[in-house]
Amino acid sequence: MRRQISCSWILPLFAALLCLAACRDKGTVTAEETSAAAVAPALTAQQTAPAPGETGSFDGQRAFQYVSDLVAIGPRTAGTDGNHRAQDYIIGQLKGFGCPVDPEAFHTPTPLGEMDMRNIVVKISGTSSDIVLFLTHYDTKRLPNFVGADDGGSSTGVMLELARLLCARKSALTFWIAFLDGEEAFNLQWNNPDNTYGSRELAARMALSGDLPHTKAVILADMIGSQNLRIKRDTSSTSWLTDLVWSTASRLGYGNVFVSSETSVQDDHVPFLSRSVPAVDIIDLEIPYWHTPQDTLDKLSPNSLAVVGHVLIALVPQLEQKFARPTAATRP
Ligand SMILES: [Zn+2]
Repeated sequence: MRRQISCSWILPLFAALLCLAACRDKGTVTAEETSAAAVAPALTAQQTAPAPGETGSFDGQRAFQYVSDLVAIGPRTAGTDGNHRAQDYIIGQLKGFGCPVDPEAFHTPTPLGEMDMRNIVVKISGTSSDIVLFLTHYDTKRLPNFVGADDGGSSTGVMLELARLLCARKSALTFWIAFLDGEEAFNLQWNNPDNTYGSRELAARMALSGDLPHTKAVILADMIGSQNLRIKRDTSSTSWLTDLVWSTASRLGYGNVFVSSETSVQDDHVPFLSRSVPAVDIIDLEIPYWHTPQDTLDKLSPNSLAVVGHVLIALVPQLEQKFARPTAATRP
């Protein structure tokens, strides 16, 4: 996973105390945790979502079902059979929605040796060739019994549902949705370059193809399924884009989920930020089960998926209004 850059702004003593209490090295999993079986208890009655008509046509129950299907595959660590089955599942769903799907294989060195990975990229052409890129990662951290219902699963379920809606929509902008491999570090700790393999590959390819200068915004979601979802503003994200997401959430009545306090996160948006592409990370990193075998389906809420999905789908026309230029054919 990613780590917070947090605490560097606090006096060292307070930083140490605060980090002991709050930051934790969540990449470290105890022996007791690793020996626990990752068996998800039965779902509870509260795991329902509002009707799609209340959330901009975004169906939180469908998104939850996609997460459930992914979790049923088991661990999805890059380079494993489970990862390949997750790819097959994602591609199958996208093709079922009628989406144009581009599986982009790549080969990369890792601490475990050379490895084949694959980003799955949906490219929905709009009237304008300017691109808004949505991101999620589908791989899971290499930990025993770790199925990543929230970490890797929740955002992938949301992006699948977003793809279902956008692939059926005539859009003024070109929308890409990338399902990224290899976000997680293979080592326990998050040390560069052992992380964000898929997003670094995608950003590099888009630079080479010439698509990157046309990319107006990158919107990353990661760990957005918790029942007590609380998303802080990431200070490394682009300000205007963060403002747009948070003001949209506020307008929709989700000010209690998209809160005004701040955090700082390293994640799949970094390779785009470092290439000067505006990017925002929508993430709740303060979940008690992060990088433990307890990251299971019973921790998730379809309502939380619906809240984030509603915000994402509501951003679409706003981004079109902001960026879509009339083509020569439609200009007066
Ligand atoms: Zn993670």
